This record gives sequence, structure tokens and C-alpha cells, in this order.
Amino acid sequence: MNRPASADELKTPGSRAIVIGAGFGGLALAIRLQSAGIATTVLEKRDKPGGRGYVYEQDGFRFDGGPTVITDPDALKELWQLSGRNIDDYVTLMPVSPFYQLCWEDGTRFDYVNDQDELNAQISKLSPKDVDGYKKFMAYSEDVYREGYLKLGAVPFLDFKSMMKAAPQLVRVGAYRSVYSKVSSFIENEYLRQAFSFHTLLVGGNPFQTSSIYALIHALERRGGVWWAKGGTGALVQGMVKLFEDLGGTLRTSAEVERMVTQGNRITGVQVAGEVLEADLVASNADVVHTYGKLLGGTKRGKSYARSLKKKRFSMSLFVTYFGLKGAPENLRHHMILFGKRYKGLIDEIFKADKLADDFSLYLHCPSVTDPSVAPEGHSTYYVLSPVPHLGTSEIDWEVEGPRYRERIFDYLEKHYIPDLRERLVTSHILTPHGFRDDLNSHLGSAFSVEPILTQSAWFRPHNRDASIPNLYIVGAGTHPGAGIPGVVGSAKATAGLMIEDAKARAPA
Ligand SMILES: Cc1cc2nc3c(=O)[nH]c(=O)nc-3n(C[C@H](O)[C@H](O)[C@H](O)COP(=O)(O)OP(=O)(O)OC[C@H]3O[C@@H](n4cnc5c(N)ncnc54)[C@H](O)[C@@H]3O)c2cc1C
Repeated sequence: MNRPASADELKTPGSRAIVIGAGFGGLALAIRLQSAGIATTVLEKRDKPGGRGYVYEQDGFRFDGGPTVITDPDALKELWQLSGRNIDDYVTLMPVSPFYQLCWEDGTRFDYVNDQDELNAQISKLSPKDVDGYKKFMAYSEDVYREGYLKLGAVPFLDFKSMMKAAPQLVRVGAYRSVYSKVSSFIENEYLRQAFSFHTLLVGGNPFQTSSIYALIHALERRGGVWWAKGGTGALVQGMVKLFEDLGGTLRTSAEVERMVTQGNRITGVQVAGEVLEADLVASNADVVHTYGKLLGGTKRGKSYARSLKKKRFSMSLFVTYFGLKGAPENLRHHMILFGKRYKGLIDEIFKADKLADDFSLYLHCPSVTDPSVAPEGHSTYYVLSPVPHLGTSEIDWEVEGPRYRERIFDYLEKHYIPDLRERLVTSHILTPHGFRDDLNSHLGSAFSVEPILTQSAWFRPHNRDASIPNLYIVGAGTHPGAGIPGVVGSAKATAGLMIEDAKARAPA
């Protein structure tokens, strides 16, 4: 996997495509292109594929770096079905229940499960009258799921006309309202409002500002379930890579693209370690500002579009602490959302403040609960994630603050959830906004790219095909529909559709 790419290897007859970056979006796109007979090479900067789904290995523990909640398994299965294969021969998906356990500092715990009667009982325990409100919210979520995800999730918004066509439906579902405001129109209990609105944070959106279309995530989870790939999300990445390679595709790791090579208004190739690799179609899965500002920085289009992208709002960053423990503390669930005292106030600070807040809202990932194989015998594996301001609003020195912040989070976990955490601690590793910036080339160290607000969605988002360079395409969190595995896998479908169509158009008759 670590062989440097060579230009000769890419010279296959017919269309040749290069995908820059092996995140979920890049891999899903590469599988679609290769399945359609387009000779595809993926060039990945890091030593392993996966992007935000990178796997850290330390002291015998395996830590999934990013995504852990796998939703919409059908979108993944489709990648195998394209070539008549079966995902089960590559990856084992295991159901997770409860989907999440939501916890508050006063000891309240809410098991968000898929069984309707049990879910109603959980809601009723907090607020009996909200059982009916939840039913209405669920119907709303189903509606936006159909309009926003099924109909528009994998459609490229290349012109304003397509946006205008979707506008009446967006107005009908009240897309101008925020997720929190919409949830609150159905549900009265504040804990339940938090429970059904926090999901936008998982795709980089502030629940008080993100369009209520994102309430569709709830229906997506209820319909398709929450899954775990046996062995970790890294096993899903490996499965996708194996599928791509079985189809004849080529993945090169430790192959950072330095620039795109252009002739007139077309891209003719990319430069890696000083060598130019030719291609007919080039897609970037890398950060959009990096793509236009750095990789196309020598062109007028690159310079001007990067300038305009930098004016957009970017999602927050994350501080993640991966840790391994001796034994397995009790009373933990696979996915735990640990709400602090403040909800709106804290989220406002995460998106706007120039410093770290004193309190937390955390996501605690405990995969050993479902799958002991991720830790050495007699041990268990975790990560705890805290949303933090990105590098555009704060000037935190993460080299100094990172280790301190980890200790503060450990103090908090010991106080509320894992009393003997430090006694059991075997190993730990932190990822700060600097890691997003330096390892993933992410603008401002943002964890989810362009923030998913209405005025930066669909046509307003960077397009799946560039407006001025007809053989340049974008895939991943920075383009339509946006971040999250279902989002970027949907973007791959939209982008692949365009690339396959364009490849057919240029093929000799
Ligand atoms: C901590 C965390 C937890 C998350 N949890 C969930 C979850 O539970 N469920 C969910 O659905 N989503 C989750 N997400 C969101 C989800 O992981 C991302 O939205 C998604 O994985 C992004 O995929 P992508 O295709 O945009 O590519 P990325 O993952 O951003 O990958 C882009 C790749 O491009 C490479 N690259 C950059 N520049 C170059 C270059 N010049 N040359 C070559 N390669 C380059 C990078 O190294 C990287 O590998 C989480 C994200 C994070 C950070």
C-alpha cells in the first residue's frame, strides 16, 4: 500500500480518474467509478486510508479515530451491489442497542432505543405528555427524510434552477427554522428537546442554527438502525478498500498531492512527490479550501474560489481523547451523550467563543461494550469527544492546553461516570484542532468542513462538479449534501453520476 504511485501504472485505455483522498467519500466514489469501468487511482496523504476514520494503534489497543455511529447501512450495501457483490463477505455489521444513552449530571439517563413501546416508556418517564409530541416529531422527521434525503440527498445542485425547484418543499417543511426550534414546537421537556436535537452536532451543525431539514437524521436512525462494524469502523474502511482493489482499482497511501496540473480550463493531472500523474477526470475528497487554495492555488479559479470559500462559516473542531483501560467499568453503554448543565449557552460558545468553556457536553464512545475484539484481553477501549472552537475563533495553544484539557475531562468522567478511570488507565492519545489542520489539511482545523446552515446547503454549498473546470469534481463533507458517513456516501453517488456521464460523453463512439 505504501508504494509511491507511478505515472505508467495510471495509463490505462479509456477514461482514467484520480481521487485525491481516501476518506469515506473518496473511497465510495472510487468504488462507484471503478464499478463503472473507469480506471481509478486513489491518492491518500496519510499512511492509512479512512480520513477522519483513521485508526490509531497504541499499546495493543485499536482506536477508531472518528466515525463510530454507522447509520443507513443500505447506502453502504449499495456500493457492493453495484458489482453484484455482497457487503457481508467483506464486513460484519452488528446492531447497537440502545442507539445512544443520554445522560445528565443530575443522574437522569435516557435510553434512546428503536423499539417504539420501550421508547414511549422512556419518554413518558421524563414527560408523559411528550409521548404524543414525539409522535408528531417523528412524522415530521419522516417527512423531511423523504424530501431532504431520499429525493435530494444524492442529487448534485449544479445550478440555481435546481435549488428553485426544491424551494417549495423546503418552505413547506419549514427549513428556515432550526432543528431545536422545530423539536421544541412538538416537545416540551427540555431534556427531550436536547435528546432529539443534539444530532446535528454529529455532522458539525449547531442545533440552534442548523436547518430543521437535519431533523431527518432521527428518521434515518429509526428506519435503518445504528450499526457497528465488527473490529471497528476501520474494518469498514478496510472492507471498502478491499472491494475497490478487487474491482481493479489502485490505492496509494503516503501520496500527498502537491498541486493539480491544468491546461486551459481543464485538469490534465496531479503532482505527487514531484511526479505528474495524468488523468482525464480528477475528484478531490480533500478539504475544499485546501483543494482550491493550495492544489489549484496557481490558477485564477483556485485563487478566487478559495477567497470566497474562506468567507463561509466552518463547523466547529473537536478535542478527542482515546484511552484504554484495564478491565471494563460497569454501567456504560456503547454510545453515551453526556450533557452538561448548559445546552444552548455552551453550544453558542463552542461555535463563537475565543476560549474553551469551563463546562462540557461530551460524547463517550465505549465500543468494547458491543465488540471486545477492539481491546487486548481483559481490557476495554474508549474515546471521549468534546466539541471545541475551531482555529478561526480561538487562539488556544493546543500543545499546552491539550494535555491540561484531557486531565479536566478525565476529572469530569471520574466524578460522574467512571470513578476509577485513572487507576485503570493503561494508555491515552489526544487529537486536537491542530491534528485536523495538520494531518487532514482541514481549513481552521474544522472537524466537519463547511457548516451545515441553510445558506450553505444544496446549491449554496461547493458544487459536486466545479463551475469553471469541467473535469474537476468534489466529493466528501465539503460538498452536497454534507458531513457524516451517509452524507459523504451520498455525495459520492451525486459526484459519480456526473463523472460517469462526462466519461461517457468523451468516450470515442
Ligand atoms: C471525531 C469524529 C467523530 C465522528 N463521528 C461520526 C459518526 O459517528 N457517524 C458519522 O456518520 N459521521 C461521523 N463523523 C463525521 C464523518 O466522519 C465525516 O463527515 C466523514 O468521515 C468525512 O469524510 P470525507 O469523505 O469528507 O473525507 P475525510 O475523512 O475528510 O478524508 C479526506 C482525506 O483526504 C486526505 N487528503 C487531504 N489532503 C490531501 C492531499 N493533498 N493529497 C492526498 N490526500 C489528501 C486526508 O488525509 C483524508 O484522508 C465524525 C467525525 C469526527 C471527526
